[in-house]
Amino acid sequence: MSALEGGFVFPGISTRVVFGSGTLAGVAAEVQRLGRHRALVLSTPGQAEDAEALAAALGDVSAGVFAEAEMHTPVAVTERAVAAYRAAGADCVVALGGGSTIGLGKAIVTRTGADHVAVPTTYAGSEMTDILGETEGGYKTTRRDASIRPETVVYDVDLTLGLPTAMTVNSALNAIAHGIEALYAPDANPVVGMMAHDGVRAFRDGLPRVVESADDRVARAEVLYGAWLCSTALGYTTMSLHHKLAHVLGGSFGLPHAETHAILLPHTAGFNAAATDRLGGIARIFGGSVGGGLWDFAQTLGAPLRLADLGLTEADLDRAAGIAVQNSYANPRPFGEDDIRALLQAAWEGARPE
Ligand code: NAD
Repeated sequence: MSALEGGFVFPGISTRVVFGSGTLAGVAAEVQRLGRHRALVLSTPGQAEDAEALAAALGDVSAGVFAEAEMHTPVAVTERAVAAYRAAGADCVVALGGGSTIGLGKAIVTRTGADHVAVPTTYAGSEMTDILGETEGGYKTTRRDASIRPETVVYDVDLTLGLPTAMTVNSALNAIAHGIEALYAPDANPVVGMMAHDGVRAFRDGLPRVVESADDRVARAEVLYGAWLCSTALGYTTMSLHHKLAHVLGGSFGLPHAETHAILLPHTAGFNAAATDRLGGIARIFGGSVGGGLWDFAQTLGAPLRLADLGLTEADLDRAAGIAVQNSYANPRPFGEDDIRALLQAAWEGARPE
């Protein structure tokens, strides 16, 4: 059934988005536009130099730098960051980096009421969402709340020119997964659907050119535009089987986030395409076949194709399938443990889906 026949809710899109080249120079004005005056700049240790440069450029609007963001938003890091935020007399955060740094920004926001200006430098897509995942004692908890969304997102193409090719490809495939799952989500709506289609199309057109020439600004802009659209799609819909499986493999088996998404995507999308007409547009974008077309696209880009290459053993697949069916969640195609076991086997071997 189409979204129009079924009816829909369009929740509005609350985040202010500034997109372009050289937009980093406007971050101080964006902070002031929010009525805030002292921004703690966040980054990972690897991007500390960029964070220091941004803090210097912010001048009086900077409250300093906290450059200890880590993957999976460990609560211990957040506690240190909140202490630094309070000690600096900050009233907002500027997160400069990928999903890990933006996750830290969201974690600070939930504890302090800070405003958040996110400046994404990968395509993973945390910046437009109301989702915060945090880890403590080996457990990951995820929650959603509108207050978690950054107030402002500044996309600057210049910041992505140096993103290494492997991270470019993997975080882009991660983003495409957001767009695809938004199309068959129970709370899908036609506006987010348009955004998801255009986002995936932008990746299809731009990504091969970026892989060929990493500093092709036009192609980088197209890909970053796709990242914005797919992040928005993730932020306003409920995710299904694909994100659930990626969560299981990351959370219970320690597999790396973006690579796991990249490998699973052709298999989960192909599996669901057999049961819904909502992926017809995606089939057209990828040459007629959702699963096969995405797999071919990933292979052309040099993306990882086999879960086996990430260190997962064949024996792990039974346990992963068992965990994946423990809780029920929305998905357009009903499935049992055997279906998931077969899907994981194909992804583990790197087989091309039909
Ligand atoms: P990341 O943020 O962990 O970054 C990986 C590494 O790349 C870091 O060392 C970072 O400093 C470096 N890096 C980032 N941008 C760079 C650039 N332009 N040039 C050079 N190096 C750069 O990776 P990610 O894939 O962006 O994010 C993954 C994390 O985000 C996961 O923890 C995932 O769960 C989370 N995530 C959350 C949401 C959400 O909505 N809450 C959405 C997507 C991803």
